[in-house]
Amino acid sequence: MTLRFIEIIEKKRDGQRLTPDEIDRIVLGYTKGDVPDYQMAAFLMAVVWRGMDDEETTQLTDAMVRSGERLDLSRFGRVVDKHSTGGIGDKVTLVVAPLVAACGAPVAKMSGRGLGITGGTLDKLESFRGYRVDLTTKEVLAQLGRIGIVITGQTKELAPADGLMYALRDATGTVPSIPLIASSIMSKKIAAGAHGIVLDVKVGAGAFMRTLKDARELARLMVSIGRARGIDVTAELTAMDAPLGNAVGNALEVSEAIATLRGDGPADLREVVLSAGAEMLLYAGRARTRASARAMLERAIADGSGIAKLRELVGAQGGDATMVDEPTRLPRAKSVRTLTAERGGYVARIDALRVGLASVRLGAGREKKGDAIDHATGIVLRAKVGDRVAKGEAFAEVHANGRPGDAEAIEMVRGAFTWRRERVAPPKLVLGRIASTRRSSSLD
Ligand code: URA
Repeated sequence: MTLRFIEIIEKKRDGQRLTPDEIDRIVLGYTKGDVPDYQMAAFLMAVVWRGMDDEETTQLTDAMVRSGERLDLSRFGRVVDKHSTGGIGDKVTLVVAPLVAACGAPVAKMSGRGLGITGGTLDKLESFRGYRVDLTTKEVLAQLGRIGIVITGQTKELAPADGLMYALRDATGTVPSIPLIASSIMSKKIAAGAHGIVLDVKVGAGAFMRTLKDARELARLMVSIGRARGIDVTAELTAMDAPLGNAVGNALEVSEAIATLRGDGPADLREVVLSAGAEMLLYAGRARTRASARAMLERAIADGSGIAKLRELVGAQGGDATMVDEPTRLPRAKSVRTLTAERGGYVARIDALRVGLASVRLGAGREKKGDAIDHATGIVLRAKVGDRVAKGEAFAEVHANGRPGDAEAIEMVRGAFTWRRERVAPPKLVLGRIASTRRSSSLD
């Protein structure tokens, strides 16, 4: 019996399992415009409350993939991709993608824009004047063949159901659902055609997943979806209680990514880059062990091939590649306010959420979809958790361009820091790993 759309919604509302056909009908019906927004919103809310099991979630992912085209990248060998669930100061892609490509593994990455407190790779890359993020499928394939790396926005042809559903979720309070997040991320990744995917699942105050339990569940589900479709997936659980690295804000983060590619980046950022990059090289078949993969990445930093690949990428996508060598020419804010410690002490905590909110106030992020952003503004942390700061010493900089929210942002950054007199151990960064092949959920 074929159910009407309303009956499918009612079935999920009442906590029943949906069949593959029912899931297909509602997703493909919505993409075609046969299911109106109000019905889809009700369906999504039913999923938020009632959940979906692994099979239903895999089916939902498949339906979203089938709503558009799926790239076949097999002619390029084993192509790898990486995706972060989003965090504050997360510029890992800007460093790891060129490094991995410099080690000979093709990287095809479709990235997103920042929304709310979490930044987006596309916004960061647009700090390079002229950088294009709207490549067509034809251009993606040509560039991947030519230089072995692409970082662009999702083309309209890939998983269009996700674009439509995500916009509706954003407006109807239906984003926080593990099956919806897992299917949204994995549908885009599967449609984009990579053979190996490394997922960086952020956990903590500045992330979608606030607890390790939820993060593990999301990671497990995404790995299971990948496995069901024959794709190698590793999910790394990484801490997002404090911002990653020192810089938060678009051009500031690009500048820090360039420094990291030159061997001069913050230790926590470098660690997450090496950890994710090693997984990517293993999946691409470029290294046999995690240790040898890390050594390759370190060589690509030391011999300059990683930074050369970033230069090539920026140039290929129409950006001003000379900014890679002269990062002082990236957009710069009019004023820099330095915050200094009133008393000496150790930094015990830096609240990523507050720093993220401050960056939005400064114009570096969006209050709502479609807002313009300021590439120049943001925050630079001059002290990290565990550091000792003497009285009068700087612990943060606020880069501002004269907006009404600047003063509030300064106070938010000040309030994001918690101090202690006693020594504080730096937090653990990589909290766990779940893999579909070869590797187990423990760290080796
Ligand atoms: N990122 C996505 O791509 N989708 C979600 O649902 C949440 C985060």
